[in-house]
Amino acid sequence: NTVVHIIGAGLAGSEAAWQAASRGASVVLHEMRPTTPTDAHQTDGFAELVCSNSFRSDDHEHNAVGLLHEELRRCDSLVMRCADKHALPAGGALAVDRDAFSAAVTEAIHAHPNITVELGEVNGLPPEDWNNVIIATGPLTSPALAEAIVARTGEESLAFFDAIAPIVHADSIDMDIVWAQSRYDKPGPAGSGADYLNCPMNEAEYNAFVDALIEAPLHQFKDWEKVPYFDGCLPIEVMAERGRETLRHGPMKPVGLTNPRDPDVKPYAIVQLRQDNALGTLWNMVGFQTKMRYGVQTEVFRMIPGLQNAQFARLGGLHRNTFLNSPKVLDPKLRLKAEPRLRFAGQVTGVEGYVESAAIGLVAGRLAAAEVTGRELPTPPLTTALGALIAHITGGHLEAEAYSGARSFQPMNVNFGLFPEVEFKKPEGVKRWRGHEKTQAKRRAITTRALNDLTQWAAA
Ligand code: FAD
Repeated sequence: NTVVHIIGAGLAGSEAAWQAASRGASVVLHEMRPTTPTDAHQTDGFAELVCSNSFRSDDHEHNAVGLLHEELRRCDSLVMRCADKHALPAGGALAVDRDAFSAAVTEAIHAHPNITVELGEVNGLPPEDWNNVIIATGPLTSPALAEAIVARTGEESLAFFDAIAPIVHADSIDMDIVWAQSRYDKPGPAGSGADYLNCPMNEAEYNAFVDALIEAPLHQFKDWEKVPYFDGCLPIEVMAERGRETLRHGPMKPVGLTNPRDPDVKPYAIVQLRQDNALGTLWNMVGFQTKMRYGVQTEVFRMIPGLQNAQFARLGGLHRNTFLNSPKVLDPKLRLKAEPRLRFAGQVTGVEGYVESAAIGLVAGRLAAAEVTGRELPTPPLTTALGALIAHITGGHLEAEAYSGARSFQPMNVNFGLFPEVEFKKPEGVKRWRGHEKTQAKRRAITTRALNDLTQWAAA
C-alpha cells in the first residue's frame, strides 16, 4: 500500500504532495477550502500566501532563509519552482505574484498523475485505515481537527496562540556587563546554578525603560486575531501599564542575584536571558513576550545594559497560531510518537513562515514516500538549513535530552543561531577584519558547508 494521505493544501501540504508523488507514493490530498473557509485565506487556490507576498532574502551565501531557498531548489521544490517563475522585482528579496504563484502550484498538483485531490474538511482524526498521513493544516487548523489532536495528545501538546519572547544571538551580548547566575544559585534538572545571563539595571535605567515600554506603538490586530491574555504570560508593556513597579516584582525582579563585578550594589531590576538551544548560540529574554511593533522592539530592548548591540534571531509577538509542542510529541522523522502513522508538516510543527513551512513539507513528503516504498531515508544533517529547522522542532539531533524537555517551545523562522559552530579563516591577504567582514565570512562558511552536506542527503 503506497498511499499517503495529506491534509491541507497550503505551503507545506502542496510541497509534501509533490515530493511524495514524485518519489513513487500515491497521494490523496485533502483540502477543506472552499467549502470550509479559514479566517485568513481569501481564495480556493493551493499554497495561498495569506499576507505578505515576500519569501524574504534570496541571498544564499549570507542569509539563512536565502540558504533555505537554495536547498529547496536543489531538492526539486515545487513551491520554489513556482515562486521563481512568478518572481517580482524586490531587490535582494524573493517576492512573488501571489495569484500566479498559487495558480501555478494548483495546476501542477492537479496535473501530477500520482496525486488525487479530495475537497472537504477532515473533521476529526484520520480514519484508521489511513496508514500513512501527513497533517499540514497550518496555523488556522480547523477547530474540529484541532480538538481531535488535543484529545489524542493531551491539553499541553497543542497551543492556539504563540506568546513569543525575543531571542538574542549569544555573540551579540556584552559579556563585560552581564553575568551568569541562576536565582539563589539553584541548579535546574540540566543546569549548573549559573544557567541564566543577567542584565542589571539601576533605578534611572529602569524608569527610562518602563517609560519606553508604555509609549511604544503596538501591533494592530484584526478582530479574529485578538489574543486573550493569560495572567501567566502578559505582554511586558501591559505589565508596565499596570504600575511602575509591576515588572520589578515580575520578570525583572532583582532578588537572589549578585553582580560579581559590583557585589555591594544591589541592581534595581534585572533582565534574565535563558539558553534557548542546546548549541548555546541563542538566548531568550525570560518573560518578555510583547505586542510592540518590530522596529520599536529593537530600539527599546537595546536600552537594556548588556544588550546595547543585541542582534535578534527573533522578535517578540503574540498571534493566533495552532502548533504542537513538537519537541515533546514528535519523533525526529516528524511522526507523532503516540501514533506514528500520523506525521506533521508546516507551521503546525512550530516553524514560522512560508518558506519554512514548505521546507518541512518537503522533508515530510520525502520521509513518507520512503516509508511506503520501503526505503530508508535519514533526516537531513543538522548542518543544513533543512536539518537545523527539523532539529529546532523535534530536538532530534541533539543529544541533550534533559535540555529539550526543559525549554519553552515557541515557533521560529530559520536563522544562523540554529546551526552548529563552524571553523573559518581570514581570507589570504586580510590582516584585520573590518566592519561586518567576520560575520559575513562565518555565514559563508556555514552556507558552503550546508550546501555540500545537502547535496549528499538529496542524492540519498
Ligand atoms: P497553510 O498555508 O495555512 O495551509 C493549511 C491548509 O490546510 C489551508 O489550505 C487550510 O484550508 C487547510 N486546512 C486546515 N484545516 C483543515 C482540515 N481539517 N481539513 C482539510 N484542510 C484543512 N508567513 C510569512 O512568511 N509571511 C507572512 O507575511 C505571513 N503572514 C501571516 C498572516 C496570518 C494572518 C497568518 C495566520 C499567518 C501568516 N504567516 C506568514 C504564516 C503563514 O501562515 C505560514 O507561514 C504558512 O502559510 C503556513 O503554511 P502551512 O502549509 O503550514 O499552512
